[in-house]
Amino acid sequence: MTEILRIAVQKKGRLADDSLRLLKQAGLAFFRNPGALSCRVQGLPIELLFVRDDDIPSLVTKGVCDLGIAGENVLSEYALQGGDAAELLTVRKLGFSRCTLRIASPKDGNIAQLSDLDGVKIATSYPEILRKFLENKNIKADIVSLAGAVEIAPALGLADVICDLVSSGATLAANGLVDFATVMKSQALLVQSTVSWSEEKQVLLARLLRRVDGVLASQSTKYIMLNAPKTAIEEITAILPGADAPTILPLAGSSDKIAIHAVCRETIFWDTLEQLEACGAQSILVLPIEKMMG
Ligand code: ATP
Ligand code: ZN
Repeated sequence: MTEILRIAVQKKGRLADDSLRLLKQAGLAFFRNPGALSCRVQGLPIELLFVRDDDIPSLVTKGVCDLGIAGENVLSEYALQGGDAAELLTVRKLGFSRCTLRIASPKDGNIAQLSDLDGVKIATSYPEILRKFLENKNIKADIVSLAGAVEIAPALGLADVICDLVSSGATLAANGLVDFATVMKSQALLVQSTVSWSEEKQVLLARLLRRVDGVLASQSTKYIMLNAPKTAIEEITAILPGADAPTILPLAGSSDKIAIHAVCRETIFWDTLEQLEACGAQSILVLPIEKMMG
């Protein structure tokens, strides 16, 4: 019987959409019935499990799921709470769900820096990460553990300040809070269980990882095409960010101009395009790459 590789993803929330998008881009085709807690991937022995993000570390360490996609913040908190983190291996940093665990206080209060935190009550959903941070900074504060709606704690008198995840800062501002210190930075990670990997599953994992790597590489990689005077080839190829040897092609009906095509493995900013133009480049096109391998 074929063994099924199980992947735990967040059911609903800030990780869910990007996690599913990555799996789809890696060629996993599935149809998720609304409300279903799992679904099979078409044509591959893979099953997706839809769970709360907080349950992903333990599902993976216990080997119930072979892989999981979770935030670094949730994984660190789990490990610091004594979860068996040795059974969990980070296989890839995925670059999405980027956020920062920040300390924030009421806008018009008198707590505005780390040195003001001694003796203060801090509400958070990440008590162990915060405890370690405060210990390292030699700060003695009280931690109030809340599962959610942490931003409202100061207004309710439950705490003086909060320690919560921030990306744009809009939620903090809406609750009259100002952030002033970083506790940790986080992004989504693909983690793997170290429990029971049959040879069959290992082969499937290697295949999946190659595809995930292709997706991750193609996200920062662009294909650039431009026309340029023959005399500017060297100057132009030196500007192209993260490009391997470019392809130089003749242009029909032109003896002094050529076309340059290259794969750039770094972001191409507007100022790079302006520099290329200053070297005589014309008709510059930057195209996304859908898939990459090798
Ligand atoms: P669940 O019901 O699954 O427990 P949740 O309410 O704990 O959901 P979400 O708010 O959906 O969690 O956040 C899930 C993860 O997404 C967080 O643990 C963090 O890694 C990341 N995240 C949180 N806030 C942001 C944000 N503002 N921007 C981007 N990513 C975020
Ligand atoms: Zn959660």
